Amino acid sequence: MPIDPGRRALILRELGLAPVWVPRDRVRSARAAAEAPEPAGSTPDLAEDRAARILRMEWPELEQAVKSCTACPLHASRTQTVFGVGDAQADWLFVGEGPGAEEDARGEPFVGQAGRLLDNMLASIGIARGRDVYIANVVKCRPPGNRVPEPGEVAQCEPFLLRQIRLIAPRLIVALGKTAASNLLHTDASIGSMRGRLHVFQGIPLLVTYHPAYLLRNLPDKAKAWEDLCLARDAMRSLKAGLKPGERAAN
Ligand code: URA
Repeated sequence: MPIDPGRRALILRELGLAPVWVPRDRVRSARAAAEAPEPAGSTPDLAEDRAARILRMEWPELEQAVKSCTACPLHASRTQTVFGVGDAQADWLFVGEGPGAEEDARGEPFVGQAGRLLDNMLASIGIARGRDVYIANVVKCRPPGNRVPEPGEVAQCEPFLLRQIRLIAPRLIVALGKTAASNLLHTDASIGSMRGRLHVFQGIPLLVTYHPAYLLRNLPDKAKAWEDLCLARDAMRSLKAGLKPGERAAN
């Protein structure tokens, strides 16, 4: 039995399938938009070219490329880029989220209140800024108001961090907080579920711990961060002894 057109429209709307027709001019403009070349800078080929070029850079060129980068909107509000700091052949690499106000003003990562806590965390396991440790961020420009960087901003900055990691070739990476951990490990898992065990980033052991800025607001979790740092220190000892992280030398 043929279905009543009014009832058919009602059923389709209930199913979320209405309207069943689309004005022809809308079809045309949708098709034109799909076929139009994407704006320069955002086509996959150009993005791949840019990433490939960055992944071949040596330190001076890489630093210059970061300094002059305008690939995402963060460049417009920065005072200066914050490249990273430390020993270019460090065993340790700590990765944070992005510069805050003080870092943006001084051009160095983790120099504000969170940075002072990070320095103390490093000291607690016998590391000092500039000696066998490199500190970098996921994004090199300050997100306004210290907001979490947007995925598009992270994507544009990613080749810079990847190149830094390749050039440093650290023995161990420590991801500070959710932004660093989730972008390096490509997961949306919580810090709580990621900490306390070893992960691997492109063949390099990686540990996750709380971001120092979070710890300043959540003092009880400092004890957990301390456990993470002890795990990192032990993993580094094993790695330096030529063992797998977590493996102990036989007596
Ligand atoms: N927080 C970060 O993640 N990085 C910095 O450099 C400073 C604060």
